Amino acid sequence: MKTLQFDNRFVRELPGDPEDSPHVRQVHGACYSRVMPTPVAAPRLIAWSPEVARLVGFDEAEVRSPEFAQVFAGNALLPGMEPYAACYGGHQFGNWAGQLGDGRAITLGEAINAAGERWELQLKGAGPTPYSRRADGRAVLRSSIREFLCSEAMHHLGIPTTRALSIVGTGEAVIRDMFYDGRPRPEPGAVVCRVAPSFIRFGNFEIFTARGDQVLLERLVDFTIARDFPKLSGDTATRRVDWFHAVCERTARLIVQWMRVGFVHGVMNTDNMSILGLTIDYGPYGWIDNFDPGWTPNTTDAEGRRYRFGNQPHIAQWNLLQLANALYPAFGSVEPLQDGLSRYAAVYEAESRGMLAAKLGLEELREEDDALVETLHELMAAAEVDMTIFFRGLARVDAQMPTLDPLRDAFYVEDKAKAHEAAFADWLGRYAARVRADGLPAGVRQARMDAVNPRYVLRNYLAQEAIDAAEQGDDARVSELLDVMRRPYDDQPGRERFAARRPDWARNRAGCSMLSCSS
Ligand code: AMP
Ligand code: MG
Ligand code: MG
Repeated sequence: MKTLQFDNRFVRELPGDPEDSPHVRQVHGACYSRVMPTPVAAPRLIAWSPEVARLVGFDEAEVRSPEFAQVFAGNALLPGMEPYAACYGGHQFGNWAGQLGDGRAITLGEAINAAGERWELQLKGAGPTPYSRRADGRAVLRSSIREFLCSEAMHHLGIPTTRALSIVGTGEAVIRDMFYDGRPRPEPGAVVCRVAPSFIRFGNFEIFTARGDQVLLERLVDFTIARDFPKLSGDTATRRVDWFHAVCERTARLIVQWMRVGFVHGVMNTDNMSILGLTIDYGPYGWIDNFDPGWTPNTTDAEGRRYRFGNQPHIAQWNLLQLANALYPAFGSVEPLQDGLSRYAAVYEAESRGMLAAKLGLEELREEDDALVETLHELMAAAEVDMTIFFRGLARVDAQMPTLDPLRDAFYVEDKAKAHEAAFADWLGRYAARVRADGLPAGVRQARMDAVNPRYVLRNYLAQEAIDAAEQGDDARVSELLDVMRRPYDDQPGRERFAARRPDWARNRAGCSMLSCSS
């Protein structure tokens, strides 16, 4: 296998931890600690993404070579790799949590591809680092499959996200929170290779301000701007302001996209918020099946429901406020930070209206349309309607002669469907009139709607089925599911079952079987 070209700016341009050992500790005055992945017993390639392989610069033969599995399980390095774990802090569930850092993520290096793009390669589950706290630095197969599949599914939906190159089984057991007969059940371990232009999080900045280290804060800010926002120009102060505004805008656009497809992140702590506005850290995330703004996949959040679907826009702004507080020493004035937060709200509002209009097949959402949207959301929640199937079906409603027929599949409970049938018919009448007022040809409207309303999303139970098969040694279901999710907006003949309603057996299972953040 050939090596890649590496240009490891993070470790080259920022100060590192003077101590060179993986023992757990508070790391002061440093942005990262050098740490080697811990070798595993028997690396075995379980799944890989052809698009990400190409992006990074590997061909299929290279991915399938035994050396690939060795490198991406953490048993070997390619020339030019300089492994490290980043130091960051974060607000978790609304409280400052102190130092967190990459407890089970190890960056291998920043690869520069043939097009000159920078792609950081990061192993997740490759063993302990100084930031592992009390945990083992490992990941179980089920959470690795979930991260791998959802990263790629999100990308193919057109949503900013970290990517995933591969899952390699370790051949070692990991003990987590799964119990059988009251005893811990050993599970297969795995390592995912995540790929992104940058893994810097809000928490990377927060940690230095919390420690009163303004020098390092400013170095990291200017490094991030230079490496990850190279288009920003002007003097240092101008670039910092424009940068924060860009972060606010990207975050707003990201959340609008989550709301478009029914994605619930589940752990929107500031250490899980990407400075690039990418979806990052796929833990107990989930997809809403029936439209329910109150739903959260995070079982540890069941009480507060801080991270419920409908609260994501609010939480993102709260997280940006924490980032703004952390950046204040580098800005020296409150105004540009407040402007950024206002910009978040303005961009969210505008983009969200555009998104809702697109989902409904309207040219734009006018003020007088707000009631239409509000009634629809209320009805969908009350009648337990599948969000994905509903919007896909809505594109097939004839605006000249609207009927509920194209929408019947979207209802989960017969009684509730009956109880709300008249209200839906009434809504459909108003909707059809509004569509007619726009006057778009039916085919154009349907094509536009189908381009923003996916047919296939990574429903929680679909991922779980692929996981169950993989745990029995059958990896083909993971690859098959990835393949379906590569074309989420296309009707794929023969694959209707992947677009079906969640089956009854999966109804009360949060994400996949009670997943915690650190499995
Ligand atoms: P998360 O809730 O996944 O964002 O993780 C919060 C913090 O816990 C981060 O510092 C993670 O790196 C760390 N962490 C999560 N799981 C593990 C693990 N199995 N071993 C070591 N550190 C972990
Ligand atoms: Mg995290
Ligand atoms: Mg995590």
